[in-house]
Amino acid sequence: MPIYCFRCPKCGQREESLRRFSQSDDPKDCPACGAAMLRDLRAEVPAKPAGFETIWSEALGVHPSQVAEHRRVHPDIPIRDDGCVGISSYRENVRICKKLGFDPK
Ligand SMILES: [Zn+2]
Repeated sequence: MPIYCFRCPKCGQREESLRRFSQSDDPKDCPACGAAMLRDLRAEVPAKPAGFETIWSEALGVHPSQVAEHRRVHPDIPIRDDGCVGISSYRENVRICKKLGFDPK
């Protein structure tokens, strides 16, 4: 499954998605500054080892209103604007679960 990467030309914010954000090629708006993001085609090479795609976990996540706080407290844990936490490998799963006080499964 392809990963679509977007990059903000204004502030450098990056977004990744397993799906395109829309059916058209319309750019996504930057969550940080609101500028139109561009597809970052060079970044769209498989950077992760095969066999594990990033899982966005709602269970480990937070309410969208707490995303900013989460980013401040846990800058090393990826989180989406909707509050889902990104797990990019089995090792990350264990690390993030422990750090957030969950039992890694
Ligand atoms: Zn931006």
